[in-house]
Amino acid sequence: MEMTPEEMEQKKQMVLSMCTCANCPSWVDGNEKGGYCFPTIGKSKVITEEKGCICGGCPIYAKMGLKNMFFCTRGSEKEQLGM
Ligand code: SF4
Ligand code: SF4
Repeated sequence: MEMTPEEMEQKKQMVLSMCTCANCPSWVDGNEKGGYCFPTIGKSKVITEEKGCICGGCPIYAKMGLKNMFFCTRGSEKEQLGM
């Protein structure tokens, strides 16, 4: 089922509000807010080194049934699933 642009934006804001990336060892302070698992956000432009990923403990991870990790460097869940 396709989401409307408004629904996508709402979901994106929900993801950003719950994202725990800023507490991750790989996090780099920049002008980003996390939410890299979400398809319209895209990879990080400042995180380049994978020093661990705490996505597994994030409420969004369970809520959205995610399977991948390191979305900041490897791309969104959809991208990593090849969709
Ligand atoms: S799963 Fe990872 S990238 Fe997605 S919102 Fe949670 S901490 Fe951020
Ligand atoms: S996507 Fe994973 S590795 Fe990247 S900053 Fe978020 S928690 Fe850390």
